[in-house]
Amino acid sequence: MYLANEKRYQGMIYNRCGQSGLKLPLLSLGLWHNFGACSSFDNMRNMCITAFDEGITHFDLANNYGPYFGSAEENFGRILNQELRSYRDELVISTKAGYDMWDGPYGSWGSRKHLIASLEQSLKRMNCDYVDIFYHHRMDKTTPLEETMDALAYIVKSGKALYIGISNYDKEYTKKAAELLNERKCPCIVNQRRYSIFDRTIEEDGVKEYAHQNGIGIVAFSPLAQGLLTDKYLNGIPESSRIARDPRFLKPSSLTEKKLFQIRQLNEIARKRGQTLAQMSLAWILKDDEICSALIGASAPCQIRENLEIINNHSFSEEELRKIDEISKE
Ligand code: NDP
Repeated sequence: MYLANEKRYQGMIYNRCGQSGLKLPLLSLGLWHNFGACSSFDNMRNMCITAFDEGITHFDLANNYGPYFGSAEENFGRILNQELRSYRDELVISTKAGYDMWDGPYGSWGSRKHLIASLEQSLKRMNCDYVDIFYHHRMDKTTPLEETMDALAYIVKSGKALYIGISNYDKEYTKKAAELLNERKCPCIVNQRRYSIFDRTIEEDGVKEYAHQNGIGIVAFSPLAQGLLTDKYLNGIPESSRIARDPRFLKPSSLTEKKLFQIRQLNEIARKRGQTLAQMSLAWILKDDEICSALIGASAPCQIRENLEIINNHSFSEEELRKIDEISKE
């Protein structure tokens, strides 16, 4: 029987998520890739256990993570049952609905019908009574936002989720959603957005600043640009990499000559800081107090361990920041 590391809370830092009472670890683990039906169950289990043993309490899922859709939730449910059930109150489990999940007009987007049915399915797959954070996964400009927010507030009031989040919402929609949820006495605690040295959209569209000023936490996904911001592609495409194994979203065409040149230059800065490029890229996300948690993916436990080494080294000199900006905006 698995017994968690007794020292698991000693090394981790926990940030308050927006103005809520919920604290999230500086690094959270996402199950988008490597937790589907074709992945090794032992490896998934070991990644979750490694994470939890090091103080990563937050596991991020969505209805359609796989492949096949739903299989990541099923696998996480098995891990929960076999290993982590007695630690349920120490875990923050999040899931989402809003992207394509099942056939027909109710299998996607932001209707009350989709959100409530999808969460019921997720709870069954994970064998949970509730999730900690339930997200609307993407903006839906055709469903009235009032309906979507009503459904989310209802879900919290029904006890099936403890907190509400939104994901991939731009500034205008974040503002409207937050106002509607406040009216319903069910605050929006988090917006989950893509953010990395290579993707500055939340700085450019104003979401980072708006969220910080209005008590909404930001959880940053794909902080390593799906693995590009590591040293693995410096000398070609390894067979074990995401591009080689599972190029649904990270395609070989993403690794252009220009990108590779940028990766090499960034790798040099990381080396001078005494970090790997993965570590420096995560540290960069967490350099100010505006990001609540960086949501990493991993294909092996050793990557999680390597990434955790940044917990106490995420400050940068002005000169380093300037160079990183210069390289990434080239
Ligand atoms: P990352 O940018 O962290 O990429 C993860 C990949 O980076 C791993 O699979 C691995 O690639 C590589 N990697 C990680 N650590 C190391 C290391 N130390 N050394 C070398 N390579 C490393 O995140 P993801 O793109 O996976 O996204 C993270 C999570 O964010 C998802 O699981 C999901 O929960 C969430 N997400 C949310 C979205 C949304 O719309 N809300 C959209 C996308 C993601 P390899 O497999 O090649 O080894």
